Amino acid sequence: MKFDLHNHHDRCGHAEGTIEDYIQAAIREKLDVIGISDHSPFFASSEEHPYPRITMAKGEFPVYIEEIRQLKEKYINDIEVLIGVESDYFPNQEKPYRLQYDNYPMDYVIGSVHFVNGINIFDTSRWDGMDDADIRQVKEEYYRQIMLSAKSGMFDILGHIDALKGYFPYAAEIDTPKVDEALRVIGQEGTAIEINTSGKTKYCGGWYPSDDLLERALYYSVPVTFGSDAHVPERIGEDLEEVQKRLKQIGYRSWRFFRQRRPVDVYL
Ligand SMILES: [Zn+2]
Ligand SMILES: [Zn+2]
Repeated sequence: MKFDLHNHHDRCGHAEGTIEDYIQAAIREKLDVIGISDHSPFFASSEEHPYPRITMAKGEFPVYIEEIRQLKEKYINDIEVLIGVESDYFPNQEKPYRLQYDNYPMDYVIGSVHFVNGINIFDTSRWDGMDDADIRQVKEEYYRQIMLSAKSGMFDILGHIDALKGYFPYAAEIDTPKVDEALRVIGQEGTAIEINTSGKTKYCGGWYPSDDLLERALYYSVPVTFGSDAHVPERIGEDLEEVQKRLKQIGYRSWRFFRQRRPVDVYL
């Protein structure tokens, strides 16, 4: 059973290709399931389209859902297409997001923390002049938000839970008990984490999260899923077999995808 639940397309302003291009790439890769999950609009913003290079406009969301729905029908004999979204998570701004997702026939929602202290986690200049104590503060705030995102109950999957290291690999070396605290809560809530193979497109290389985190996640009984986080169709399903093999080595027995917000567990 091969699936990929995380990808983007031209609607967000920084990815290439249409939704259909990604579905066709998934068929070429012989996937059984492809979940479409573009970046959510900034639903809590007063503006219609505050950051056109980061995500779609608010009014575009229903158009996006309808397009997936139609493509799901068109390719019904070739592949199962799921309706998803990669949602931003901002503590204290849950309500407008929750209202939107309750309003559409979502198969799953990925919750990702992309901003810490108001700055994007992939902004390389954010680390300028920081000492270890400053970096630890950012890391602890990042995991506090991830913990809150699990507790919110809004998400089926948490996105790339050590992406702080993306353009700043040193962040992974700073120790804090907040990481395990977050993993324990994620396990209690039963929220899945994704193995996201887009780390290789950034300075850190490899996957999110690291093997070390995956071992601890298993200890806390955190379910796992897969996403390439493709921003070009060619990356769909990238490293899926390698991830599957690694998860088995670590000790996982199964992983999951989602239909109508219910988990479907399949053996690795
Ligand atoms: Zn993106
Ligand atoms: Zn993301």
